[in-house]
Amino acid sequence: MKSSSLLSALTGIILTCASALSAAAPAAAPAAGTASATVTTTAASARAGGTDRTDHFRVTLLGTGTPVPSPARAGYSTLVEAGGQKLVFDFGRNVSVRLWQLRIPLGSVDAHFLTHFHSDHLVGLPDLWLTGWLRPPYGRRDRPMALYGPAGTRALAEGLRQAFAADIAIRHKDEGSALTGITIDAHDVAPGVVYEKDGVRVTAFENDHGDHIRPSYGYRIDYRGRSVVLSGDTRFSPAVVAQARNADVLVHCVTLIPDALLASNPAYRAIYDHLSSPEDAARVFQAAAPKLAVFSHIGLNGDATVGQIVERVRKTYAGELLVGEDLTRMDISLEGRTGTSGGIAVWQEQP
Ligand SMILES: [Zn+2]
Ligand SMILES: [Zn+2]
Repeated sequence: MKSSSLLSALTGIILTCASALSAAAPAAAPAAGTASATVTTTAASARAGGTDRTDHFRVTLLGTGTPVPSPARAGYSTLVEAGGQKLVFDFGRNVSVRLWQLRIPLGSVDAHFLTHFHSDHLVGLPDLWLTGWLRPPYGRRDRPMALYGPAGTRALAEGLRQAFAADIAIRHKDEGSALTGITIDAHDVAPGVVYEKDGVRVTAFENDHGDHIRPSYGYRIDYRGRSVVLSGDTRFSPAVVAQARNADVLVHCVTLIPDALLASNPAYRAIYDHLSSPEDAARVFQAAAPKLAVFSHIGLNGDATVGQIVERVRKTYAGELLVGEDLTRMDISLEGRTGTSGGIAVWQEQP
């Protein structure tokens, strides 16, 4: 069911860098059950493709899950690479594992952004922070960790420093690790432009994650005329629509509660007061018309399936749709942007 829904979800997306990938990755093979023309599994040698190109703009879903401790879907986290910069948005469970699967040293991330303080977006932060400070190739942070988030982010950083004070002191003394790399340069940011460097601009905006979860942010990333919008955790939000209008990629949360489950246990309705149903997401996609709509933070309650999500979205939204998996990657090229694919290449790394 999952693979067939991926197939239908991907219909129409053209793998614009197929030839480059197959040249770099002779072992490239289609992900099981998916269309070879649309989703390709790459070898490690292909992963670095284009990383030093100044127009490089890539989105990687590091974790597409929810609080469910799933081996298949890590906690919610998204990597955006723009030019030579690496930005990570949210830090769910296993964010460090997913980054290192891509052979991205944890300490090489340039800036970190938090949407809100729910634990499924945060439990991976201490790991990313502390492990990224270690000396082996998977770590190696030698500058302060730049962290941006809503009011409370600075306090969070101070709390982490206190909680792990013993580890920090031990490694500093015993291993000679410089304290610069374990310092958190934390910023409480208001909605608006929160980061701007070498043509990469990150804008925070308030979404709608329920009355008691404020502020809760989504982020828009702009780079050389292209844009990616991350909805964050939200129910239907006009702010997401406004930010994502004609964006290249909109990554949106979704949750599905089967009708029977909702009828037998009305307590489930509270979930829809905080997160988007497939119909809510379809409304956003319809109104914003991104070149590619992507699901991440995928909540499957009871016996709900990805196929059912797609089926319900398809009742009202006919545009390009991708149901994300961990390590789904998207390259947004400057070329070919007039075609129906919008110049977005999609492929699936083997998690
Ligand atoms: Zn949340
Ligand atoms: Zn969440």
